[in-house]
Amino acid sequence: MGKLIIVPTPIGNLEDITFRAVRVLKEADLVLAEDTRVSRKLLFHFDVHTPLKAFHMHNEHHFSLVLAKELLEENKTFALVSDAGTPGISDPAYLLVKACLEQGVEVECLPGPTAFVPALVKSGLPSSSFCFEGFLPQKKGRATKLQSLEDETRTMVFYESPYRIIKALEQFIATFGEERKASISRELTKIYEETVNGTLFELLEYYKTHTLKGEFVIVIAGKN
Ligand code: SAM
Repeated sequence: MGKLIIVPTPIGNLEDITFRAVRVLKEADLVLAEDTRVSRKLLFHFDVHTPLKAFHMHNEHHFSLVLAKELLEENKTFALVSDAGTPGISDPAYLLVKACLEQGVEVECLPGPTAFVPALVKSGLPSSSFCFEGFLPQKKGRATKLQSLEDETRTMVFYESPYRIIKALEQFIATFGEERKASISRELTKIYEETVNGTLFELLEYYKTHTLKGEFVIVIAGKN
């Protein structure tokens, strides 16, 4: 029947890969990778020599059905990885998973690293109910999206590029008010990992004078 296995990979610290992920990557017929250069280094580190093929946002639209049919007809097992973390979480996977399910190909997803879970848990904000918003639209649709979240009562989780942290915090203050509690986690699992908790105003003041390098997750309390 063929099988697609989604394989999460470390978001910084290589020790976070699981034994099972390494075994699955070794046993697969093919590893589909967002960036084959990035994944080749990772696979080499874990002594995995499975062939790689590129699967990314620029080819996933036409390639997903082709791959799903190949899995089905040739009874193969493909592993899907992204550059870091869990494929399908702000990374390609959805279209391929959908195509596989439609073709009757089994889909498995290994548990593993993803940035939003440690950021949410370290925020100290309610984690019993939350919404993952990923990246806000960069231009068109950004204001509308923010507006739609004005009355959100669940904790909200955003991914943001270091180049837009200040702008994003200013926009969050305009939407939620400067006293809203929030948390920013930077460089999770890496040497310079840092989590700063405070109000949106305090976080804006902090990041105006501190480093904006690395990868960021922003967690914001819901409306009371
Ligand atoms: N698939 C990934 C996951 O499971 O979290 C997310 C990939 S998305 C393209 C990249 C974004 O994830 C970054 O811009 C940042 O917001 C977040 N991210 C990834 N690694 C991170 C890390 N080590 N620390 C903080 N945020 C991280």
